[in-house]
Amino acid sequence: MRALVLDRPRPVGERPLDLRERPEPSPGDGELRLRVSACAVCRTDLQIVTGDLPPHRRSVVPGHQAVGVVEVVGEDAEGWRVGDRAGVTWLAGFDRTCRFCRDGRENLCEAATFTGWDRDGGFAEAMTVRADVAVRLPAGIADREAAPLLCGGVIGFRALRLSGIQPGGRLGLYGFGASALQAIQVARHWGCEVHVASRTRADLERAASFGAASVGAYDDPPPRPLHAAITFAPVGSVVVAALRALDRGGTVVVNAIHLDGIPAFDYDDLWWERSIRSVANVTRRDARDYLELAATIPIRTEVEVHPLADGNEALARLERGETAGAAVLVP
Ligand SMILES: [Zn+2]
Ligand SMILES: [Zn+2]
Repeated sequence: MRALVLDRPRPVGERPLDLRERPEPSPGDGELRLRVSACAVCRTDLQIVTGDLPPHRRSVVPGHQAVGVVEVVGEDAEGWRVGDRAGVTWLAGFDRTCRFCRDGRENLCEAATFTGWDRDGGFAEAMTVRADVAVRLPAGIADREAAPLLCGGVIGFRALRLSGIQPGGRLGLYGFGASALQAIQVARHWGCEVHVASRTRADLERAASFGAASVGAYDDPPPRPLHAAITFAPVGSVVVAALRALDRGGTVVVNAIHLDGIPAFDYDDLWWERSIRSVANVTRRDARDYLELAATIPIRTEVEVHPLADGNEALARLERGETAGAAVLVP
C-alpha cells in the first residue's frame, strides 16, 4: 500500500511527507484494518509534521480524521464486520482501568495514545485502528464530508457540552475556523442565539451567513450578556474578553491545545460563579453522538479534495490559510 510517511519533522516547504510503498498493516488483537477512502487534514497534523508537537516515534504516518471500510477484523475485535464503514479520531487508545476511563472520560487517560502521532494514521491507503475506538458512521454522510467532522467537529461538540449551553441560550464563539463553523450549526439547531467574535471581516461575514445573531471584534461586548462562550483563538486575551461577556453563572470553554499567558483580570470578572475551563481531546461517546447529530441536522462542511500524493501541498495551503473549508486527502 502507499502511505505518506514522516521520518523527521521539518518545515512544510521541505516536503516532510514522503509517499512510499509499505506492507499492508496487519491488525493486532482487538484491532481492525480499514481500507481508507478519505482522511481530513487538521492543524494538529501540521504541528506534528513541522515539529511544533515533538515526535512520539521515529517514523509515523499522520492523519487522524479517517474514513474507511473494515477489511480485516482482528482476533477479539468485537462489534465490527468486514464491509462496515468506520471513522477514526484523534484518540487511538487508553488503558480502560484508570478512574477516568472507568467513568467515561477516557479523553483524560494518562496512558492515552493518539492517531497519527503514537500510531500510524490515515494518510495512507490502509490503516489499523482499535475496534473499541473506531466510530460507526451514520448513513447519509459521504466519506469525504464525514472526515472533517471527526476532529474539529467532535471537539467543538464536546466544548458545547462542557459549556453547559441550553437550547435557546445565548452562546458566544470567539474565533471562527473550521471547528467553530460546525459548532455554530449545532448551536443554531438547538435554537441558540449566537454571537461570533473574530479579527477578520471574512469570518464575520461567514458567521452571519451561518445565522449568527450578532458579530464583532474580540473586545466588543455582545448585545446581551452570554450564557456560555467557547474560545477557539489560541490567545489568552481572548479568554478574558469572553469572560467579560458572560452573564452570571456562565462558563468560558477554552478550545486550544496551547495558549499564550492569560492576562491578569479583575476578580469581579469571575465573581458570580463564572468559570473558565479547557476542553481536551474527545471521548468515544462524543464522537458517536456528534456523528449521529451531524447526520440529522445535517452539518454542512466544505471540503477541498487532494490526492494522497499531494499531502505536502495540502499542508502548505493549510499553513498559509488558503484552504477552502477542510482539506481531505483521498488515496
Ligand atoms: Zn485534529
Ligand atoms: Zn485510563
